[in-house]
Amino acid sequence: MPPYNFSAGPAALPKAVLEEAKTGLTDWRGCGQSVMEIPFTGPEFKSILDDATSSLKELLTIPDDYHVLMIQGGAYGQFSFMPMNLLRGHDSADYAVTGHWSKRAADEARKYCKVNIVTDGSAANFTDIENPDKWRFDPHAAYCHLTTNETANGLQLPHLPDSGDVPLVADVTSDLLTAPLDVSKFGTLYASAQKNMGIAGLTIVIVRDDLAGQALSTTPAVFDYGRLAANTSKVNTPPTWAVYISGLVFKWVLSQGGLAEMARRNRAKAKALYDVIDAGNFYRCPVASRVRSSVNVCFGLPTEELEKQFLSEAAENGLLYLQGHSAAGAIRASLYNAVEQDAVNALTQFMTDFADREVGK
Ligand SMILES: *Cc1c(COP(=O)(O)O)cnc(C)c1O
Repeated sequence: MPPYNFSAGPAALPKAVLEEAKTGLTDWRGCGQSVMEIPFTGPEFKSILDDATSSLKELLTIPDDYHVLMIQGGAYGQFSFMPMNLLRGHDSADYAVTGHWSKRAADEARKYCKVNIVTDGSAANFTDIENPDKWRFDPHAAYCHLTTNETANGLQLPHLPDSGDVPLVADVTSDLLTAPLDVSKFGTLYASAQKNMGIAGLTIVIVRDDLAGQALSTTPAVFDYGRLAANTSKVNTPPTWAVYISGLVFKWVLSQGGLAEMARRNRAKAKALYDVIDAGNFYRCPVASRVRSSVNVCFGLPTEELEKQFLSEAAENGLLYLQGHSAAGAIRASLYNAVEQDAVNALTQFMTDFADREVGK
């Protein structure tokens, strides 16, 4: 039933999670308190944080030599905290510039070190990604940063590069938990929660033990991975309500069959949408088919005028937040885990009707 939420973030949450959160809002586990009122230092929040962490470890089969940090600052904050924590005496880092977000990550890193761009898709307006096997790595780089899914441009990395001994570091904000991921291939992963895992305010960092604890001396204590790991994310107050919600989302994903099932659903949703886009000459997706995102589907119409009309008629029909990112324009449908096949069916039906009507004029 509409309305259907296609927002890129904050985004749709599973209905079952919102229902359960009602009890957490006023009377968590019968304790007569809201989760929001519980001190972060006590046993109640400890159990919320431990539950969320163990569910995430189970979902991703996170190896034992990784720490899961649940902190504030957003993915954009990590663009700085990444070099601060991971330079480890090196003076440069590798960055793959494959879209809006990775470009910002590289720009931010330049405040702290030399940045070697291993690949750059900006000349092609971020419509394709160079084969990762051809990227130009620096063997002396502290790490190689990449963005697995470019939320604004609708591109997804087809496979991981082999960066040799240089640890891979990834912004997985918009596709973590949408499909299985081999954590052991990465030195560090990070994601803000509001795209696919919960609500704004929480950032999840998964860092390999040997990479934590070597932060620059100027790193704020509250963003020092070593200190955060030693204090199970409680250097200062974690975003307690956001941690609680993410814990519910992780349990929901487990109850639905885990990441393999999420991947199956997401592939089906994305295919339905790309099939409609590719069916005629009315809609067009500028992204090379090899690297099209299964999470954020970006497309345009023949004119900007028609795009405006499309967006306003879609909203009237309960198909919400389809406006493209300000850097990319046009239309974007985000198909995170909580967006159900029903919502995609309603959107594809609307798109087919809209195109038929306009082409028939
Ligand atoms: C949304 C997004 C960000 C920024 O996240 P904030 O939580 O707003 O800092 C960074 N990277 C990617 C891939 C994103 O999708």
